[in-house]
Amino acid sequence: MHNSNASLAVGKDKPIQKVLAALEAAGCNPQPTQDGQWMALCPAHDDHKPSLSIGEGDYGRALIHCFAGCLNKDVVAALALKLADLYPPASRRGVPKRLRQGPKPAPTPEAAVADLIRKWGQPSVRYPYRDARGKLVAVVFRWNVDGEKQIRPVRRARGGWLPGMPEEPRPLYRLPEVLEADVVHVVEGEKCADALAALGRVATTSIGGSNAARKSDWEPLRGKRVVIWPDNDEAGRAYGQVVARLCHDAGAAEVRIANLAAVWPGCPEKGDVADLLAKDKTKGKRYTLKLLKRAAAEAPPWEGPQPGEAESAAPPWRPFPVDVLPEPFRGFVQQVAESNDGCDPSYVAVPLLTLIAGCIGNRREVEIKADRREPAVIWSVVIGSSGTAKSPALKAVAQLLDPIEQEWHKQYRQALARWQQSQGSSRKSR
Ligand SMILES: [Zn+2]
Repeated sequence: MHNSNASLAVGKDKPIQKVLAALEAAGCNPQPTQDGQWMALCPAHDDHKPSLSIGEGDYGRALIHCFAGCLNKDVVAALALKLADLYPPASRRGVPKRLRQGPKPAPTPEAAVADLIRKWGQPSVRYPYRDARGKLVAVVFRWNVDGEKQIRPVRRARGGWLPGMPEEPRPLYRLPEVLEADVVHVVEGEKCADALAALGRVATTSIGGSNAARKSDWEPLRGKRVVIWPDNDEAGRAYGQVVARLCHDAGAAEVRIANLAAVWPGCPEKGDVADLLAKDKTKGKRYTLKLLKRAAAEAPPWEGPQPGEAESAAPPWRPFPVDVLPEPFRGFVQQVAESNDGCDPSYVAVPLLTLIAGCIGNRREVEIKADRREPAVIWSVVIGSSGTAKSPALKAVAQLLDPIEQEWHKQYRQALARWQQSQGSSRKSR
């Protein structure tokens, strides 16, 4: 067999190396070309002059093309490879090893916040979050630092503990008890849940503050009777509405929103269940339970979202912030919007962001936190009334790639012509 091992020295476990080695083994004699690629006899058809081009694409992907028209799947099958062999493992595409690994997990939840313990001392409270089987999956630590509340969650990850929220959907607080209960009280914050639990009630809350309720898994409340205890302020009432909706959608048998202020004359702004318990300590557990029972009984069943509520719950429409785009994109968006009867700039900017992200591909990632990276993947949908110039705007964006596509197509046609020429001379010489 012809020895072209020198040309195969392109990295030990790269897909292109695998393909070249398979071609070599199949007697297809891959040879380097002037333009940094390889040509070989195609194993999928009766080939006498090399018809198969082999090259390397983005992220170490192997590119193959039979000019005689064989399908790639037939070519790889003839080499006893799979199409997947043309791609490097997904987790390794373009991401350096150091970044892939992220920070090393700590052996315990406390060790994951060791830096903060050195800075702030021992946390004042530690709230455990467990999965349905009772396994500890997250811990929320709380410190009081110069009168200010500092909260840091840690989560089980990669065989240890890392700072950050548990994966979504996140478990509810005291989940194993919630699963066993018929009636579940939902409050804002672990402190209130613990206060109700101390009274023998099953109480829960969502991790991550009142704005993150949607990120928790409310499915465990299916079939249960739920009483929600909002804090006595606007944010609390908003949380109560969101949670009521989530419990309702999860299939709770009944959802009520209690009004603490109704049974607690003089309930302060931001007052919550824990405050009531602390205040009524002197009057005893029985008295407090009676108050809470009354509040729960007086709360009317939540009837589901009122007509029009869904719309008002959506954030208001805001114009696309074209000015945050760098040039040349800002000018492009403005120009296209103007030349399309002044269509909304978002019709241009949104698909443009998706197109730019596609061009970046996996070459770059944004490191949001020490252990979290996001590739440039943007899915976008443009919604607008018909006749408002959505399509012309989209077309103007898509056309940005035309010169590149034309250039690549030109290169392809040239390579094809070279191949056809070689086939012709082969016929003549035969
Ligand atoms: Zn072929």
